[in-house]
Amino acid sequence: MLKIENLSVNYGYISALSGVSLHVTEGEIVTLIGGNGAGKTTTLMAVSALVSKFSGSILFKGEDISKISPDRIVRKGICHVPEGRKIFPDLTVYENLIAGTIGNPSLKKQDIDCLLEENYRLFPKLKDRTKQYGGSLSGGEQQMLAIARGLMMDPEIIMLDEPSLGLAPIIVEEIFELILKIREEGKTVLLVEQNASMALSIADRGYVLETGSITIEGTGKDLLSDQKVKKAYLGV
Ligand code: ATP
Repeated sequence: MLKIENLSVNYGYISALSGVSLHVTEGEIVTLIGGNGAGKTTTLMAVSALVSKFSGSILFKGEDISKISPDRIVRKGICHVPEGRKIFPDLTVYENLIAGTIGNPSLKKQDIDCLLEENYRLFPKLKDRTKQYGGSLSGGEQQMLAIARGLMMDPEIIMLDEPSLGLAPIIVEEIFELILKIREEGKTVLLVEQNASMALSIADRGYVLETGSITIEGTGKDLLSDQKVKKAYLGV
């Protein structure tokens, strides 16, 4: 579904990504793990056309999307839930969710009602707080709202940037269970995480990014037992 080929991104003189290639097949959960500054966020931003690419190509369902604008990328069905959630604190939960539909102008009122219902089923905590302001939610609820807002555009693939960041372990577990449910609902997931053990435990496949290059790839299970991954990212 998504294929990144030989992608390089520079920030001025700084090379953030150098020759990154990876793919995500429909229905998969694929994780990209790596330490601080490895280039995980930059990879997602490159897919969303939020940074300019120095070289390489990005294909979505066989179509080259390397040169199209961020709004058109969203309309193709690619959703990016950014690191730090970026929900609208002064809008209610309901309004935040409706804001998510802006990315998909083909949605009709009926579709939006349906998506709202699906999201409230998936995230019952949000249903209880529909009139509450986004800024008054807990960190975990804000993360759920950010994911639910992304799902409101009815994407084919959802890219999640560090959804577990700053959350208590019990909430992290809840978020990872939700990611599995989202896949069960038919979505494809590209998950960027520093919490390598949790991410690999739910992922079909994973890639390790180190200073802008992919160094190891394999199934989630294989990477969990890989000696280098264990030592560098699993604290074993
Ligand atoms: P983290 O987990 O800390 O968010 P990351 O793996 O997501 O890290 P990126 O944020 O993609 O990594 O950063 C990759 C490299 O690019 C790092 O060296 C970072 O300092 C640099 N970088 C990121 N954004 C910018 C920017 N706007 N200007 C200059 N350098 C940047």
